[in-house]
Amino acid sequence: MNSNEIEIHKELKKYFGFSQFKGLQEQVITSILNDKNTFVIMPTGGGKSLCYQLPALIQDGTAIVVSPLIALMKNQVDAIRSLSSENGIAHVLNSSLTKTEIAQVKKDITSGLTKLLYVAPESLTKEEYVTFLQSVKISFVAIDEAHCISEWGHDFRPEYRNLRHIIKQLGTVPIIGLTATATPKVQEDILKNLDMSDANTFKASFNRPNLYYEVRTKTKNIESDIIRFIKQHKGKSGIIYCLSRKKVESIAEVLQVNGISAVPYHAGLDAKTRAKHQDMFLMEDVDVVVATIAFGMGIDKPDVRFVIHHDIPKSLESYYQETGRAGRDGGEGHCLAYYSYKDVEKLEKFMSGKPVAEQEIGFALLQEVVAYAETSMSRRKFLLHYFGEEFDGETGEGADMDDNVRNPKHKVEAKEQVVK
Ligand code: ADP
Ligand code: MG
Repeated sequence: MNSNEIEIHKELKKYFGFSQFKGLQEQVITSILNDKNTFVIMPTGGGKSLCYQLPALIQDGTAIVVSPLIALMKNQVDAIRSLSSENGIAHVLNSSLTKTEIAQVKKDITSGLTKLLYVAPESLTKEEYVTFLQSVKISFVAIDEAHCISEWGHDFRPEYRNLRHIIKQLGTVPIIGLTATATPKVQEDILKNLDMSDANTFKASFNRPNLYYEVRTKTKNIESDIIRFIKQHKGKSGIIYCLSRKKVESIAEVLQVNGISAVPYHAGLDAKTRAKHQDMFLMEDVDVVVATIAFGMGIDKPDVRFVIHHDIPKSLESYYQETGRAGRDGGEGHCLAYYSYKDVEKLEKFMSGKPVAEQEIGFALLQEVVAYAETSMSRRKFLLHYFGEEFDGETGEGADMDDNVRNPKHKVEAKEQVVK
């Protein structure tokens, strides 16, 4: 190790208490410390925050962190403050602050105390803030959840498109983009929009070797099929995703009637019930949660053993995120999706009310899901290829972990077997 490496290891231990970097963190941090534009693509849970937090804590000046969710920013600020004796080390700048609070934030930044300043993209566009930030030392700008820049991402936010323009007004500062979205299309969009084709790019593998992927044709027997599956996984935790709230309710009920402990979760339930059902799942008072995609953001239950999609997801990106909640502990994780072409048509119909550009993107993403469901090749290879990653179907980790590889004759002929 050279002296720089020893130095950042020491800082890692000092601030975060970790003795080792995870994955590509060290390379990313070195790139940032060398003032390079840097692009980081790592799956959820990969440890992206530390990639900008550590260099921000070490360097002179304040790092601006752009993040789309106020709750996420608050969590991070609290976490950073707990590492230090100075509250002013991290701040959030947003519209909810009083005049006095804003004055304090500005004072802490000017005095060099604040190492991390979290801002929502819409706050950063405020002229008052831009003028202020022009007058202080900025170490770099980190753009978390950078896929929000792209219409091809799962969470497009128009305000993200203005970021480059604003950052230019702050002078020459390195930009760090971070995302868990691995599709080449979104990545291209990010680099283009942030005008950083020169960025050092670090991409971690998205392979989850312990997850088993399976697609079954959806027939009218789907409910008994799901019940049989769950009974074969007795006492294990699992999530069942459905497209509609109505379906969530009815499946949860069918499971309960059949002696399976299950609760529903969707945005139509009041906040108290939602929180209760989520806790019951986390505390293992119930085995199964039947949910719309409203469930799962930030859920960190390590031993989810299966994720079932009663209806196909709207993109492979969402499928990867949702199935990614299985087997976090490295143990078994069975990802089962039911597929019928009827469902594809239903989703297309949903989208037909949207603006044309959005529709086109939606259809294209859905076609990829259809291709995944209908493929007879290795599903892992298919998924990883979609994420721009080459996977060796012979020797790659987890190569035999899907239905097509284990049972090559299996073919989904959903068109002939649609549910009436
Ligand atoms: P991401 O933003 O990529 O989804 P986070 O930044 O939220 O991931 O980090 C995920 C988890 O990994 C956190 O609990 C964090 O404390 C942990 N973590 C990050 N870096 C390390 C490390 N070097 N060693 C151990 N744990 C780490
Ligand atoms: Mg993150």
